[in-house]
Amino acid sequence: MTRLDSREITVPYAWRSTREISSAASWRSQRPILELDKCTGCMVCWKFCPEPAIIPDGKKVRFDLSACKGCGVCEETCAPRAIHMETEGL
Ligand code: SF4
Ligand code: SF4
Repeated sequence: MTRLDSREITVPYAWRSTREISSAASWRSQRPILELDKCTGCMVCWKFCPEPAIIPDGKKVRFDLSACKGCGVCEETCAPRAIHMETEGL
């Protein structure tokens, strides 16, 4: 019987955080765009973002696109519709 060395067990790709995989900018298909004048600073997007990609900035937020995987959760959770996703490379 073949013994499985614990060092050979790899964590599935989907379970890794964006930081572990490397910069998300290399594989993300869309990116969030913020309309500052619509942002109320409620921080709901910051609360639900699964990555450390939304940074409180004064009474608004800004994105760290090196950590953003383009999931669109921020767009879905922003009630004032201040965020929209844009296809990369356009
Ligand atoms: S959820 Fe929308 S309004 Fe609230 S902080 Fe984020 S971008 Fe601004
Ligand atoms: S697209 Fe996803 S990872 Fe990027 S800022 Fe929005 S919620 Fe966070």
